[in-house]
Amino acid sequence: MVKAIVGANWGDEGKGKITDTLAAQADIVVRFQGGANAGHTIINKYGKFALHTLPSGVFYDHVTSVIGNGVALNIPVFLKELKSITDRNVPMPEILISDRAQMVMPYHIRFDEYEEERLGGRSFGSTKSGIAPFYSDKYAKIGFQVNELFDEETLKDKLVRVCETKNVLLEHLYHKPLIDPEELFAEMMEWKKGVEPFVADTSAFLYNALQEGKEVLLEGQLGSMKDPDHGIYPMVTSSSTLAGYGAVGAGVPPYEIKKIVTVSKAYSSAVGAGAFVSEIFGDEAEELRRRGGDGGEYGATTGRPRRVGWYDAVASRYGCRIQGTTDVAFTVLDVLGYLDEIPVCVAYDIDGEITTEFPTTGRLEKAKPVFEKLPGWKCDIRGIKKYEDLPEKCRNYIEFIEEKIGFPITMVSNGPGRDDIIYREK
Ligand code: GDP
Repeated sequence: MVKAIVGANWGDEGKGKITDTLAAQADIVVRFQGGANAGHTIINKYGKFALHTLPSGVFYDHVTSVIGNGVALNIPVFLKELKSITDRNVPMPEILISDRAQMVMPYHIRFDEYEEERLGGRSFGSTKSGIAPFYSDKYAKIGFQVNELFDEETLKDKLVRVCETKNVLLEHLYHKPLIDPEELFAEMMEWKKGVEPFVADTSAFLYNALQEGKEVLLEGQLGSMKDPDHGIYPMVTSSSTLAGYGAVGAGVPPYEIKKIVTVSKAYSSAVGAGAFVSEIFGDEAEELRRRGGDGGEYGATTGRPRRVGWYDAVASRYGCRIQGTTDVAFTVLDVLGYLDEIPVCVAYDIDGEITTEFPTTGRLEKAKPVFEKLPGWKCDIRGIKKYEDLPEKCRNYIEFIEEKIGFPITMVSNGPGRDDIIYREK
């Protein structure tokens, strides 16, 4: 059986923590899209980790971690991250890398930086991890799959060809140093040594595992709002963040995805540019940012302060729908315990028209939030294990949001740790 764990919103909903929690019962955890441009924060018996490339199952010795074909694989980051966890006494995890995964090239990162610089004030707020240039090249059919490392002569020729076009842009558009294909080839041969032990036909591996009745988790990165088709285009990421894409990016049959756990945080946060209707500012925002997540709402990859706001039920209802949600995991609820009352964005006002339908980007930019205020519970809910033991006002908040989004909240996360989870039978 396959379960997908994906985000309803802008990312940073706590998918890493939910994956780490659910991986206790899983056999395999697969990353199926995205790259090292976002991070998952995980806290467990080994300490606190920010993972960018490794699947969140790497802390369990019963789990095989798979980097699927849909991932933007940055090999130096992968090797560094692997070393950083084993250096901290995490046992060497079982990892498989799809032989069809494509590799982030050093020039993808450079192009990402140069393009953001060129765009100046109109930039996308990219994390400059090379993700947009990487996926552009993948679909322009000039990307490099991991298996190409093992055919040296063909690789050399292709590098010369691809670098020719890249160098035209470097010289004439960006006025930056050119790429030397031979140097790049030598660097890639180092990558080859590093990844060789992990490379496999992962879709065949997953197919066989499913035949044997194994439990597979697909771990999404970012969330619905960042999907290139259904999100806030163009302020999106460059690979699909939806559970449906999990079938493609992992190489599993779509009908095997039986559960779609959509993670949604009890308030909103976003990094990068783009419309964010329920955003708040000033002291109110600073306080939520400081108290938020675990140690504040600052990007796991960039350390940038995240934009924060109240829960947006319009965006989340849409975000859950587009994921095909079967279960909602409602996270970081403990953080809201300081508030006397908690606003929830229940509708948008677009030029005087009140709507609960999530609009396309042009209209979204004009949307003003319609807030409804709920009473706060004013206490610390960490450590509570049973739904009935949550304060009534806290349950009211959960049930109010559940009704607004129209999908069942079956898990409530009340702390960053693996065991800070309340299961709710529906
Ligand atoms: P992801 O990208 O969706 O995995 O999210 P991140 O890991 O970037 O951000 C979530 C942050 O919230 C991390 O710092 C987590 O440790 C933290 N976190 C996750 N769940 C909870 C929770 O229920 N309560 C608190 N206080 N923090 C949480």
